[in-house]
Amino acid sequence: MKKAEIILIGGGIVGASVAFHLTMRGAKDVLILERESEQGKGSTGKATGGVRAQFETDINIKMSLYSIDYFKQFDDLTGVECGYEPRGYLFFATDEAQFEYLKRNVEKQKALGVKDIETVDAKIIPEIVRGLNCEDITGGSFGANDGFINPLGVLEGFTKKAEEAGAKILRETKVLAIETKYGKVTAVETNRGRIECEKVVLCAGAWARELAQTAKIDLPIEPLKRQIVWAKSRENFQENLPMVIDLGSGFHFRPAKDSTKEVLFAYPDADESSSFDTNFDESFIKKVYEKAKKRAPFLAETEVVREKCRAGLYENTPDHHAILGGCEIENLYLANGFSGHGVMHSPATGRALAEIMLDGKANFLDVSCLSLDRFAKNELLHETAFI
Ligand SMILES: Cc1cc2nc3c(=O)[nH]c(=O)nc-3n(C[C@H](O)[C@H](O)[C@H](O)COP(=O)(O)OP(=O)(O)OC[C@H]3O[C@@H](n4cnc5c(N)ncnc54)[C@H](O)[C@@H]3O)c2cc1C
Repeated sequence: MKKAEIILIGGGIVGASVAFHLTMRGAKDVLILERESEQGKGSTGKATGGVRAQFETDINIKMSLYSIDYFKQFDDLTGVECGYEPRGYLFFATDEAQFEYLKRNVEKQKALGVKDIETVDAKIIPEIVRGLNCEDITGGSFGANDGFINPLGVLEGFTKKAEEAGAKILRETKVLAIETKYGKVTAVETNRGRIECEKVVLCAGAWARELAQTAKIDLPIEPLKRQIVWAKSRENFQENLPMVIDLGSGFHFRPAKDSTKEVLFAYPDADESSSFDTNFDESFIKKVYEKAKKRAPFLAETEVVREKCRAGLYENTPDHHAILGGCEIENLYLANGFSGHGVMHSPATGRALAEIMLDGKANFLDVSCLSLDRFAKNELLHETAFI
């Protein structure tokens, strides 16, 4: 292929959603370039599949509200199951300051329209999660519409509909550089040759920074390894086990999809430093089990399912919020830096990018606070409820 109107670099969940939303708006000549032989090999295929509206900032809450509503209709809209399961998210606090923080967030979430969200008294928590060690827990918050989706299902649904509407995908096509002339996008250079284009959307996940540099754009994204331990219990877990998160340490666990005995657990390992390493590190198993043993003895009695344990990359920005929209290079658009929330925010992201590209701004939701220039203007956002 020698020419396309719009090129999307990266065929993960974000690229697929942008392609879907562009084609639903009538864009015909949309081309996704994916370096792997199949989609989903980046962070999308590694994700836990959690969706939640329990955030601190207005923008994250609004992105989640829109996206969770979207997941409710996803199967009808795309013909592919996204697996949305509203099992709930329980955040718990282990000191008064954390509990106050959760209370403030719940008030804000309610004011912004989040339904079925409550703070929960420490006494209630053992009823929500039986067998949890609650002796140091001061309280928590529970969002009943938070829950799980299947990231690869969402990827498939967006891609299928985009392709039906005319989008094309070239796999095993690695973009080497974004070409510009007089401050405007002209083409991309790939391992299979040069492709001229009018617009480029950079949605290459944790690998976006180097590509942005080829167009002389400084994109502050750091890759960071995140690991998940998958384990199996002999006994059934309680029915309707939600996602459970220790706000202080970030230790969290969720039941595996369609299983009453399997569980995923993890925490943000402070020993990790920025790198592109995605090898699962065996020593993480011991570390996470130490946390599990303390917090939930029923997790400590599980056996590791080694072949399902995995490591992937978060694509972190300095303020843990996405970077969405245009930049100094005309017709170069960014959809990057989701800092662990890219799967759950993919519907809102795709729509925002399509509206920014076709209408000049996102009309359904003001995402201007997520633009790249917030870093130069020192207008960083503040969110503590990231894990
Ligand atoms: C362990 C783990 C758990 C997570 N849990 C959650 C969760 O519960 N909920 C949630 O919302 N998010 C979660 N995330 C984050 C989420 O996975 C990401 O934010 C999301 O997948 C980002 O999607 P993406 O399409 O931008 O990136 P990716 O899925 O990484 O897609 C980028 C694509 O670009 C391709 N690419 C890269 N460079 C090039 C190039 N030069 N040329 C062509 N193609 C290129 C890659 O091959 C890849 O397919 C988790 C992440 C990890 C690692």
